[in-house]
Amino acid sequence: MAKDPDKILSEVEDKLKFLSLLGVEFVSRESSVVSLEETILNCQKCPLAQTRTQAVPGEGNLNAQLMFIGEAPGRDEDIQGRPFVGRAGQLLTKIIHAMTFQRDEVYITNIVKCRPPGNRNPQGNEITSCKDYLLAQIEQIDPKVIVTLGKVAADFFIRSSLGMTALRGDFYDFDNLKVMPTFHPSYLIRNEGNKTLKKMVWEDMKKVMAFLGKK
Ligand code: SF4
Repeated sequence: MAKDPDKILSEVEDKLKFLSLLGVEFVSRESSVVSLEETILNCQKCPLAQTRTQAVPGEGNLNAQLMFIGEAPGRDEDIQGRPFVGRAGQLLTKIIHAMTFQRDEVYITNIVKCRPPGNRNPQGNEITSCKDYLLAQIEQIDPKVIVTLGKVAADFFIRSSLGMTALRGDFYDFDNLKVMPTFHPSYLIRNEGNKTLKKMVWEDMKKVMAFLGKK
């Protein structure tokens, strides 16, 4: 017996709705990340656009549970267009591996996406101009934990007059996620002989691992 055309139509509509839901969710997430990256690469919103070689949006797993956020790209990052690829980046990669993650399992970016001249700290107006990009990345990736590297990155998320030594070691709430502030890898490199600093960073990372169920 021939099927009722209305029933066939209704079944097809249901399937299309289902597929479209799956497809739209997938396409919109990927395309919104790509379009955000393109916007950052072409951004002229602050004076750093005049002195950069290229903007450095960030890289990593778009489903990451863990995000690392530094302050700004340095010389190597500005040349290569990737975050944390210089000496400090190599140390960060070692820390990530010690936490039993691979680099491509986490997401890595900076507060501002363009290199400040001479690697100076980013200024308030530059951070304000760039902050929507970072907030959009956090919304897209939706991590469980953010590790901030250095005082500039910590200040973005945590309102406190404390210095890094007093600030690090505890989780802070930012919206519905946890922020763990720790020292910037370049600070560890500048204080290479200081074993206490290294120990403090490792203690911080162990807390992050425990929170994420890593041993
Ligand atoms: S630092 Fe941010 S706001 Fe400034 S030009 Fe680069 S991407 Fe745009």
